Amino acid sequence: MIIAIDGPAASGKSSTASGVASQLGFRHIDTGAMYRAITLKLIREKLDLSKTEDLKNLLNNLDLRVDFTQDGQELYLDGVQLGDEIRSHEVTEFVADVSAQSLVRQYLLGVQREVASKHDVVLEGRDIGTVVFPDAEIKIYMVADSRVRAARRQKDFARQGIEKSLDELEEEILARDAHNAKRKLAPMRAAADATILDTTTMSIEDQINFIVSKVEASKSNGGTN
Ligand code: C5P
Repeated sequence: MIIAIDGPAASGKSSTASGVASQLGFRHIDTGAMYRAITLKLIREKLDLSKTEDLKNLLNNLDLRVDFTQDGQELYLDGVQLGDEIRSHEVTEFVADVSAQSLVRQYLLGVQREVASKHDVVLEGRDIGTVVFPDAEIKIYMVADSRVRAARRQKDFARQGIEKSLDELEEEILARDAHNAKRKLAPMRAAADATILDTTTMSIEDQINFIVSKVEASKSNGGTN
């Protein structure tokens, strides 16, 4: 079974996808982390995105491995496991430009379909229900008020000892959403048959339960949404 979870930044996708996956024994595939890993590589190589041949070469020789353990998805770039470096400010600033490149999207589309092919999976991203798996059995599009999303990000940063104002975070989130929604290729949007889940006032537990109930209902209906 494929569960597709899409939606804007800080709408609750990651925690929910991870909780749903562990409750159901599915694999949690974080596609945003893959875009971030490629972005990190491009930053390290100081690659100019307008140089298509260089980008093609880099992707042809890219050593990016996706692995799954009990702790979830692990990414290895050039043989080294990636951690928080893919969440740095620099990567976050640049990732929307990188993910608008068709070569990058084509590359990751192949990776995402391959890693999801032999397992029950929960994939989170921006284009899972529309492009990567348009036939996914369950499609959820998570949304939340932008101020609430900024407050969630503020808490994440505070845990890392970083202080940021709500205004600044809200602005960043809205800019990133606009960039992802307006791009030509695989723009962020809800699939026509997705269930819209507004998480503004929901707890993560409620979000997980909502999706798990949907999966159970779908299974007892013989797989129809
Ligand atoms: O989910 P996360 O914020 O880590 O994703 C980082 C970025 O990767 C997004 O802002 C978006 O530009 C890109 N992305 C994408 N398609 C996906 C997942 C992420 O374009 N399926």
